[in-house]
Amino acid sequence: MIDLTNPIFHDADKAREYLESQRWPNGPVCPHCEAKNEATQLQGKSTRPGLYKCKGCEKPYTVTVGTVFERSKIPLNKWLLLTFLMTNAKKGASAHQLARDTGLTQKSAWFACQRIREAMTPEARNAGPIGGGGKTVEADETYVGGKAKNAHKNKPIPPKRPVVALVERNGEVRAQHVADVTAKTVRNVLVTQASRKSKLMTDRAALYDAMGREFASHDAVDHSAGEYVRGKAHVNTAESFFANLKRQIFGQHHAVSEQHLQRYVNEAAFKWNNRSSLGIADAERANNALKGIGGKRLTYRKTDKTCNA
Ligand SMILES: [Zn+2]
Repeated sequence: MIDLTNPIFHDADKAREYLESQRWPNGPVCPHCEAKNEATQLQGKSTRPGLYKCKGCEKPYTVTVGTVFERSKIPLNKWLLLTFLMTNAKKGASAHQLARDTGLTQKSAWFACQRIREAMTPEARNAGPIGGGGKTVEADETYVGGKAKNAHKNKPIPPKRPVVALVERNGEVRAQHVADVTAKTVRNVLVTQASRKSKLMTDRAALYDAMGREFASHDAVDHSAGEYVRGKAHVNTAESFFANLKRQIFGQHHAVSEQHLQRYVNEAAFKWNNRSSLGIADAERANNALKGIGGKRLTYRKTDKTCNA
């Protein structure tokens, strides 16, 4: 549950103090030279609140410099509200809904959501490969899109876009949109995002046969022959991640263009990796997204040119 009466959602100064406490638990960190706790807070009458001057490089900064919240007209308290609402919407939240909940325009809410999705990428969380010795990793593919009811009027039905997911049982997921499902593209995801010490579980033995030998062990079930579970061999965990992903995309976003698909995949993966059954409470989930807002200026700019997810 989110306490919507919390002042951090209504007061920009309270929001800034909250963000500082999350991003800088040990004192301010300079986004220019990374000097830690080496800053003076500037407090002149004409100085905007939350402005620090680095003693190392002498440059000024605030808690939003170098983050996806930087140079935005959206007040910080609304950024926090959006982050909390988004990270706690299990089925996804549309920009329309979030605009109503925050008093932003639909367009502003859409751009803001794309930026918050940037904060949810595994890179933002410094997340390494999943699996390892004694751990089981399920690998599976699915196809997103391509439904007539999601197509725009007078436009062709969008093609289905493949997504590969690796899910560690009782652990995290890594998921990636790939151009096509071939041994080459799937292996590339597997060997970069899962430890080869893991036990691998897949569908379709043929696709995974060769790369499976690179792992500690490999078991496959044959969905095409109606086989879904054989002892510990199954990819049911990956299937439930895909079910979540599709519910989030189709429930709230209608057709998602290929350009933006990876962002929605990242959002679903973030929620899976921060799910309550892992003991992660709602506020902690939002705070984990806030911890990923730094170092993104270059990537999110690309987002802002289009608004047609
Ligand atoms: Zn500095």
